[in-house]
Amino acid sequence: MNFGIDDLPVRDELRGKSPYGAPQLDVPVRLNTNENPYPLPEPLVERIAERVREAARNLNRYPDRDAVELRTRLAEYLTDTSGYEVGVANVWAANGSNEVLQQLLQTFGGPGRTAIGFEPSYSMHALIARGTGTGWISGPRHEDFTIDLAAAERAIAENRPDVVFVTTPNNPTGNAVPPETVLALYEAAQAAGPSMVIVDEAYIEFSHGDSLLPLLDGRPNLVISRTMSKAFGAAGLRLGYLAAHPAVVDAVQLVRLPYHLSAVTQATALAALEHTGTLLGYVEQLKAERDRLVSELRAGGFEVVESDANFVQFGRFDDAHKAWQRILDRGVLVRDNGIPGWLRVSAGTPEENDAFLDAVRDVKCFVG
Ligand code: PMP
Repeated sequence: MNFGIDDLPVRDELRGKSPYGAPQLDVPVRLNTNENPYPLPEPLVERIAERVREAARNLNRYPDRDAVELRTRLAEYLTDTSGYEVGVANVWAANGSNEVLQQLLQTFGGPGRTAIGFEPSYSMHALIARGTGTGWISGPRHEDFTIDLAAAERAIAENRPDVVFVTTPNNPTGNAVPPETVLALYEAAQAAGPSMVIVDEAYIEFSHGDSLLPLLDGRPNLVISRTMSKAFGAAGLRLGYLAAHPAVVDAVQLVRLPYHLSAVTQATALAALEHTGTLLGYVEQLKAERDRLVSELRAGGFEVVESDANFVQFGRFDDAHKAWQRILDRGVLVRDNGIPGWLRVSAGTPEENDAFLDAVRDVKCFVG
């Protein structure tokens, strides 16, 4: 019998939809998912093994449900790198920032409620909205991918969304959102709501500018979401976290699964946080490589969006998908996000970036 998803009584809004996922192709140079190209340094690998061995001795017990030690270390990392003091009560952690965002929408979104994002942006925001039964509103951007503030303020006033997403630096375009714009959106959201404003800072360590953490001061409806997947080079770890008013941390407890963060995950993340200095050194190298990609692509005649992230959006192609395929034929996987005319490349090692810059010469013919 041929039995598929559509034969199951799945929720109406999930019918005919595809799961999120970039192609995982086995090619020599993979620059399509904004991962950090540097494996964790050997001393850190050793430290993880040590910490996990200790944790293994207690795996008969549930882990620390509140992840207090980990949240304390994350708070210290945020304080040290931003100069803005946050404590353990301001920080919450989960399995990747995707889970953080899901918990936030389970808490502040849900059936009968809506969230707005300014697109193109991180497509999981809309998908997590769908998964949590939250209505999705696609807000506007200018042609150059900056947020159209006047239109955004109007959209917030008209729709009165319960959650406002701001991604800075934005994925897939790479540009950062000025703090004044975030402040204006926060004000608009409070006037229409009050509603929660979630600033997704997954790529902030790669930015020329600073984290918006200091904006938390006096703004209890603001949440900053972060991850160890990018700057810490630990996408496989699955550790995301947020900083916000302690009341927000209390609120997400209402939806989190008990013991959601395994003892192995907590031990691994704690080990990584002991090696922040080395890992942030890699971030500096990646920033330099990102800047090199921007300037070499521009010198090669491509249009490039200003990037504050570890990736670069470039174009413009008459047919971006054909250009994507041609680059892939040269053994380099970049990302086609379906934004007409544009492709995105993640900054890799200098050698990987050289391979990409070599391959990309072949697609100059597709530039419109
Ligand atoms: N936010 C943004 C803007 C992202 O690009 C990503 C990953 N691609 C995430 C959040 C989720 O990252 P993770 O779940 O690995 O923390």
